[in-house]
Amino acid sequence: MFNVEITFAYRSRRDGWTGQLDESAVASAVYGLLGAWKQNGQLLPGEFPRTIMRTCCRVVATCPETNSLEPRYAGKDVREATAALAESGLREPTWRGLGEDLDSPMVDKCRKPKWYILSADCLSNAPPVQCGECHEPIPLYRLPSSLDRGRILYWHYTFRAFDFIQLGSGAGARFALKQMADSNSFLSRDGREICRAIEKATGVPTYYYLQRVRPRSLAAEKKSTCPSCGRKWLLAKPLHGRYDFKCDHCRLLSNIACSA
Ligand SMILES: [Zn+2]
Ligand SMILES: [Zn+2]
Repeated sequence: MFNVEITFAYRSRRDGWTGQLDESAVASAVYGLLGAWKQNGQLLPGEFPRTIMRTCCRVVATCPETNSLEPRYAGKDVREATAALAESGLREPTWRGLGEDLDSPMVDKCRKPKWYILSADCLSNAPPVQCGECHEPIPLYRLPSSLDRGRILYWHYTFRAFDFIQLGSGAGARFALKQMADSNSFLSRDGREICRAIEKATGVPTYYYLQRVRPRSLAAEKKSTCPSCGRKWLLAKPLHGRYDFKCDHCRLLSNIACSA
């Protein structure tokens, strides 16, 4: 992923602006576009440091690829938020790359992934759909625009929030663990519906990851079966260093949860 500095220059009399610049209107127009870019997968989720300067507003953000902000990836919401900038006294934004982001992986380079995985991790804000072959993340804007990208984004926020809670091992940890591990929890049902929608829109099999943490004995873990259909699902060897179980029938992946 790449860090980028985005500049929202103020309009002047030369480009027809006669109004008074209002800082809160500037902030809401800028956040409107940043939010639309995030929802479309053109920016990674997170907080964006923002500086108000004499002639412009500057924001630093992270995007999946060096060209992620190009208009060809924009959807309707991005186009509308871009058009709304002028009313608040802003020109269309310009950006310059600052270089590779050290805390996030590079995006998937496979031309045609054979399968996808929906999984997340509280320590990474990389896109939650990965290529099944190489496990690198896929920018959401590369998936068909018919998909509800906002729903994928909110599933991602929720999964990461539960992952933070379970890591804290305090208030709410039991609930968070169940949401992530149980194939029938609200979070998993939502994630599995998203997987089905991705598969329907792309024709690419899409698997959902059940993150299991609560330790049991290794022998008990190895005997476990798919929680949805009861078939055997232990893989001969772990996949991508993360998955020990896979059910092709239910499109589920999981890991051995044991303390030894
Ligand atoms: Zn790949
Ligand atoms: Zn199954």
